[in-house]
Amino acid sequence: MTAVELAEIPFFPLDLFEGDRAVLLRLLRETGTAPGQRFLLGEQTAHFEAELGRSLGGAEVVACSSGTSALTLVLAAMAVGPGDEVVVPAFGCAPLASSVLSVGARPVFADVDPWTMVVDPAAAAERIGPRTKALMPAHMFSVMADLPAFRALAEQHGLRLLEDSAVGQGGVLAGRPAGLWGDAGVFSFVQVKTFGMPGEGGAVVTRDGELARTVRMLRNHGQDGRTRFRHHRIGWNSRFDELQAAFQRHRLPGLPARLARRAEIAGYYTERFAPLAERGVLAPPPGTEGRCHYVYTLLAERRDALQAHLATRGIASHAYYPQALPRQPAFAPYTLPGDGWPAAERVAERALSIPVHPHLTDGQIERIADAVCDFPVS
Ligand SMILES: *Cc1c(COP(=O)(O)O)cnc(C)c1O
Repeated sequence: MTAVELAEIPFFPLDLFEGDRAVLLRLLRETGTAPGQRFLLGEQTAHFEAELGRSLGGAEVVACSSGTSALTLVLAAMAVGPGDEVVVPAFGCAPLASSVLSVGARPVFADVDPWTMVVDPAAAAERIGPRTKALMPAHMFSVMADLPAFRALAEQHGLRLLEDSAVGQGGVLAGRPAGLWGDAGVFSFVQVKTFGMPGEGGAVVTRDGELARTVRMLRNHGQDGRTRFRHHRIGWNSRFDELQAAFQRHRLPGLPARLARRAEIAGYYTERFAPLAERGVLAPPPGTEGRCHYVYTLLAERRDALQAHLATRGIASHAYYPQALPRQPAFAPYTLPGDGWPAAERVAERALSIPVHPHLTDGQIERIADAVCDFPVS
């Protein structure tokens, strides 16, 4: 093993953009010295939106300032507001609940599958009531949520479907890419996500032209893009940078190869970890259908001990997320007394994510797998 491979293995790659640094600096110079001095929502953004849409087999893409604001813009465009409820996962990241609250609606938490950690459609169905306006399932770490079931549920109850595909970009389920299962989906381009970039950004994806038009207005203070200072709706400042758009255009053609490398690493881990199930370390289910590879998440009975064990081998890991969403101080006040999410609380105690980024070498993934497999039984 080389000295480089014996060094610490960081959770996310520190050399993420090393190969693109010269391009990044060239684009910075070009953007900074261009005669038009346009830094937001210009030609680069328009081209990026069109190219990303084409790569998805045809969809409208509206680039905006983050994945979180993408969720907020879609909820607002769907006219979700005070008095409405949105069914969201009980396990996941804060924007799942805060975006709903930010438009004045109430998040209703549905429990998750105890193995894949994605929101359970049966649990979501139980939370549908007279005030429910939308369903907002999210893909988690390694596995896409059961979007065919959520689509059927939305149709059956006449609800809007917003797919949080912030960690699902690149996943495909039943031939349909993540992001295109609902009325709208969202991506996040924050550095660590599968199509991350050096800064904040996100996108709304949809095949509903009317929804796309409204989101476009809402991301720029309710203007229609033709008449300046004419505000049709109360909007936000959620615009996209020209420099980032130019950089993402440069990075887009390489995305499939980077996703394939992530999938290859995840497949290797899952094979290596299969025997650990009886020893209290559960890997995601094997297979490639409906998979995404933002991080690779194990369920470990002795999670903190496994994390400490990996740290002694120089391997960084993260406990995403240590608390179920409805138990967070910010969101607990919006839950009903006596409500419970046992699976979400169990996975919050056991989930441990290990690196799966495409810059890992074969030597590093072997070292990570060896370290997990060496974890003592008790
Ligand atoms: C990252 C993430 C978001 C938010 O994206 P940002 O760009 O960080 O605002 C939303 N939902 C999920 C599931 C995420 O993982």
